[in-house]
Amino acid sequence: MGKKRCTAIVLAAGRGSRMGSGVAKQYMLLRGRPLIWYALHAVEESSVIDDCILVTGAEDISFVKEEIVARYGFHKVKAVVAGGKERYDSVYNALRVLADGETGQRDTRPDIKDGYIFIQDGARPFLTEEILKRCYEAVERDHACVAGMPVKDTIKIVDETGCAKQTPDRNFMWQVQTPQVFDAPLILSAYERLMQEKGRLLREGISITDDAMVVETFTDCKVRLVEGGYENMKVTTPEDMVVAEALLEKSDEG
Ligand code: C5P
Repeated sequence: MGKKRCTAIVLAAGRGSRMGSGVAKQYMLLRGRPLIWYALHAVEESSVIDDCILVTGAEDISFVKEEIVARYGFHKVKAVVAGGKERYDSVYNALRVLADGETGQRDTRPDIKDGYIFIQDGARPFLTEEILKRCYEAVERDHACVAGMPVKDTIKIVDETGCAKQTPDRNFMWQVQTPQVFDAPLILSAYERLMQEKGRLLREGISITDDAMVVETFTDCKVRLVEGGYENMKVTTPEDMVVAEALLEKSDEG
């Protein structure tokens, strides 16, 4: 069986409010390069990924096209699209562009019918070829998979007052990362359902924080957890920048 076409959706439309800085976090410099460079570089160099849709704030599109995509020569980026209010809105906008072929480059349009979609947080600079390969093998077998790692800490479920209510068995707890990878038709139909039922979920106080949750909620497909890496962190707060700098320094030396 030949390799299926793999399209990455790289998300960089968050406001990064937890970073508390003036500059949007995806453009903050890490060892001299914008944070978003790292995920895009991994995608560009990968033998697994064929093309990429980059999602960014509507007001940042021309900056990103010039100062990130053209400047660093990310040729796999076929479209830069505007994100939405929530992460899932941003993912949906990218999926719609894939389904409707609004990239303006029809001949290079990714195959939404028979390929795999790799959804990647732009704020995770430690995406590796090994993780991408493990995900490809898993999605080929299981149709839906997400990178993650077993948790190291005990996790508590707390009540509204902040007191411990329940302690789930740590042996069954994973922290979830990206990439989150799916058969293209599966993730598209799951997101279409989400958009139809978003109002009800909001009223019920359910927040959708990753793509696996969309597939778990709206399809019968099981989502396989695949080994990511403890280094495959998301840069969210200023402390994370310090940790990420240190990890990058270490990998440069190694
Ligand atoms: O907010 P969170 O940490 O879950 O964001 C994860 C990733 O999703 C980040 O790379 C962020 O830029 C992206 N995001 C987005 N659109 C939003 C919110 C987050 O593309 N509305």
